Amino acid sequence: MSDVLEIHQFPCLSDNYGVLIHDPKTNATASIDAPDADAVNTALVEKGWSLTHILTTHHHADHTGGNLALKEAHGCTIIGPKPEQGKIPGIDTAVGQGDTVNFGGHTARIFETPGHTAGHISYLFEGAGVAFVGDTLFALGCGRLFEGTAQQMWSSLQKIMQWPSDTVIYAGHEYTLSNAAFALTVDPDNAALKTRADEISVLRAADKPTLPTTLALELATNPFLRASDPDLRATLGMSDAADWEVFAEVRRRKDSA
Ligand code: ZN
Ligand code: FE
Repeated sequence: MSDVLEIHQFPCLSDNYGVLIHDPKTNATASIDAPDADAVNTALVEKGWSLTHILTTHHHADHTGGNLALKEAHGCTIIGPKPEQGKIPGIDTAVGQGDTVNFGGHTARIFETPGHTAGHISYLFEGAGVAFVGDTLFALGCGRLFEGTAQQMWSSLQKIMQWPSDTVIYAGHEYTLSNAAFALTVDPDNAALKTRADEISVLRAADKPTLPTTLALELATNPFLRASDPDLRATLGMSDAADWEVFAEVRRRKDSA
């Protein structure tokens, strides 16, 4: 938790977050995904930063739609998931599980976290204590299983659950208010969740972001990470099921909520 990484988060499109990270020593600046080139450019001007990198989490258009325009304007280097490299516009460097990315002297470890898409990756900057998980994990939620199975997503989430618990986590979307309402239906007696749901209502009523979050807070309150919790399992009537099956049931209920 020693390296200084300046971080600027801004809402864009309908419910996406754009994030810029900046190293003040080298002036390197990366956009985490590129939901919208105009919104990223506006944020760059606001901060007085020039774009050197785009760190892509997955191929969906609301995460890569700005790639080509930003590359043309800034000549930035685009890094993205090896398993999806054919679907990432303008990609220069493809990375996978166990690779590291050097950004302005900071090291990001790459974790393959498939489930939402087949090749989704997450970036952990352990020295700075921050991570970018795209549409794998959300505040009180997780990504929909468009290209993967519940078992695959559960093993992806387990990778994230092993990171340092004080890791600050940035995610792709502001879905937290509806996630909180759902979380309370499967984990109704969780006092930490009830407190958090109240705080989220206040934040969203004032149009304030509920992200970033921390891994510790998600471990305590996010039902998609709590498949081993005895109370949640009892609520679902799944006390003897495997953890991944409990996860799958939580995901199934959220999909039909
Ligand atoms: Zn997505
Ligand atoms: Fe998305």
